[in-house]
Amino acid sequence: MGDLRFIIQNKQNSLTGKGFRFINTVISAGIIKNKINILTEFFDLFLPRICPACKNKLESKEEYICSTCLNKILPADNTRIKFEFQKKFNSKGIISGLTSLYVFEKDKELQRIIHSMKYENNFMIGEALGILLGDKLIKDIHELNFDLIIPVPLHRLKKSERGYNQSYYISKGVNRKLKLELDKRSVRRIKYTYTQTSMKIQKREKNISGAFKVVNAENIAGKNILLIDDVITTGATVSECGRELRDIGAGKIYAASLAIAD
Ligand SMILES: [Zn+2]
Repeated sequence: MGDLRFIIQNKQNSLTGKGFRFINTVISAGIIKNKINILTEFFDLFLPRICPACKNKLESKEEYICSTCLNKILPADNTRIKFEFQKKFNSKGIISGLTSLYVFEKDKELQRIIHSMKYENNFMIGEALGILLGDKLIKDIHELNFDLIIPVPLHRLKKSERGYNQSYYISKGVNRKLKLELDKRSVRRIKYTYTQTSMKIQKREKNISGAFKVVNAENIAGKNILLIDDVITTGATVSECGRELRDIGAGKIYAASLAIAD
């Protein structure tokens, strides 16, 4: 260990000229660790970590996303969330509340981050952003009376193709803050659906209809549920999953996502 420290110290000296630092810095912007791990700096020399949005090297104090990109992402403020809730969920009466972290903008940083999270095995970004979403839920909703967190499930074929469900990792991050039961087994996606991106709302609703099935009603009945997805666009997916949960006897169903889109 002494040798390792010596190597790190020399690498550090050559890099920064400031000598060996025992760092305990709090940095305001970004998903940034409070305590900078000296080993992270060491490994970054050999295997640099890359920001998925701008492809630049991450600094040792940055985790997953660089602070420049993170600062460019548009936060979803309460007025916007209220507006989107009215537009997407209010008339159906299934989802009783909504929280989102960011506003999705096409061809911008967040789109690239979400793409990386979903398709490039960068699922740990989901967990990191989930922690921020958990913080926001605690701040926004003073009476957090959820019993259960449920990630919107993927069809098993899509999951085996991708290797993971990104919404599960977001939920894991949220649950680090909320510390409830995270249930990824009670609801299944039984209908394979093709990408809905270009579909209008009516077509999406038809496409997603009957896509979910509760397989463990005992764990759902009477519970207030926090349903988690990566991006909420028309709200058709979350509403359909929520409808299945409600029909089986769930209590209140609340939706949360990393991003909200038009
Ligand atoms: Zn970046």
